[in-house]
Amino acid sequence: MTVKTRFAPSPTGYLHIGGVRTALFSWAFAKKHQGRFLLRIEDTDLERSTAESVNIILDGMKWVGLDYANADDVVYQTRRFDRYREVIAQLLADGLAYHCYCSKEELEAMREQAEKDGTATYDRRWRPEPGKTLPPVPEGVTPVVRFKTPTDGVTRWHDLVKGDIAIPNEALDDLIIARADGTPTYNFCVVVDDFDMGITHIIRGDDHVNNTPKQINILKAIGAELPEYAHLPMILNEQGKKISKRSGDTVAVTDYGAMGILPEAMLNYLARLGWAHGDDEFFTMRQFIEWFDLKDVSPSPSRMDLKKLYWINGEHIKAMPDAELAGHVRPRLEMRGIADSTRPPLEDVLALVKGRAQDLNTLADECLYFYAKQTPAEADTAKHWDDGAAARMLRFAECLESVNDWNPAAIHDLFAPFCEAEGIKMGKLGMPLRLAVAGTAKTPSVDEVLALIGKEEVLRRIRS
Ligand code: GLU
Repeated sequence: MTVKTRFAPSPTGYLHIGGVRTALFSWAFAKKHQGRFLLRIEDTDLERSTAESVNIILDGMKWVGLDYANADDVVYQTRRFDRYREVIAQLLADGLAYHCYCSKEELEAMREQAEKDGTATYDRRWRPEPGKTLPPVPEGVTPVVRFKTPTDGVTRWHDLVKGDIAIPNEALDDLIIARADGTPTYNFCVVVDDFDMGITHIIRGDDHVNNTPKQINILKAIGAELPEYAHLPMILNEQGKKISKRSGDTVAVTDYGAMGILPEAMLNYLARLGWAHGDDEFFTMRQFIEWFDLKDVSPSPSRMDLKKLYWINGEHIKAMPDAELAGHVRPRLEMRGIADSTRPPLEDVLALVKGRAQDLNTLADECLYFYAKQTPAEADTAKHWDDGAAARMLRFAECLESVNDWNPAAIHDLFAPFCEAEGIKMGKLGMPLRLAVAGTAKTPSVDEVLALIGKEEVLRRIRS
């Protein structure tokens, strides 16, 4: 059996990080078992689904790098209405579904009664049974189609995350599978899709646990082999509440990209929300696939921890090859007005500064002074730029002028003799030198910084 999983987002907003974690686990599970991971857009809710949201989902999936096997053939529910109608007709023909002519008022009365009795809502008035007389068909009413849910027995499954779950069928309604206008309903479409797509493992958020027994019963009715189910617990915000824009949480996965999070760090972080492999925090997706097992997914909700996300991001920044990292930083430098980040080569700059930032925006800021001298902060000037600093820097520029082989060691060799000749400590050379050349007191080793910026430019900056 080839493992087949799917991610089935509804395009009603952005690609939520909870959704990405669901997609990640489905993806990893498929990869781990040499299976296929598919994408399906659940766009039957025509009022809430938008083409823009579809693009946001596709862009988000691309950004995180979760590749799906049906990239050329993503399943859109809105393109499958004929197929849904066909299955509905078949269920009707097989006596597994039936027409129901109840009015709104009747249904409302049933709902009130059911609330009192604690039973399923619909009293199955139109459900054909042997020996039962159905009410006369009212005139001018287009019926809905209801599914004949078994009235006795228990629907059970072994959830790969939550363990055994059993729901008595009497608690389930004969759910509507086609509305009066003929459009199929949500749970029905999901079932037909999962069946047609040959999904073997349904990995999704645990907000769908209630849908599962309904879907299992329909799957059985259409003669499908039942898939395995794994329901993933929620991701909560740092306060332990539901993640929401209104609470000021960052929700959309691509917004984390704008915050300077690397896609691989985002996935690494999300993998650890609700899943663990010993104490491992920092890993690649290749390692994750190797380690991933649904039995290690926790059934209880996990909490966002932004500090940890940034820490993991910092680790990925450090581990990334400099040339690849440059691809992420270059556009950010351009946004900061640096049109040419080739002199000095951005890769070399990153090799020097990449340990100093946990996000790409801060990292881009750390690169700025290699390309343009920054305006020193007043506090730094007050602290490090003493009365004699300007003249001292000009004298040091003379020493620098004499360096022929411009490299960190050669520059470093100038420091001790200069300080001795001037009768100063290194701080009185190093800090003003940083301000004169970089325009900031916070740089890595000053000899390395000067070496990278280049002799001509260093002298120009000091002398100006
Ligand atoms: N469309 C559903 C959602 O976005 C997922 C349904 C499923 O995975 O079965 O929550």
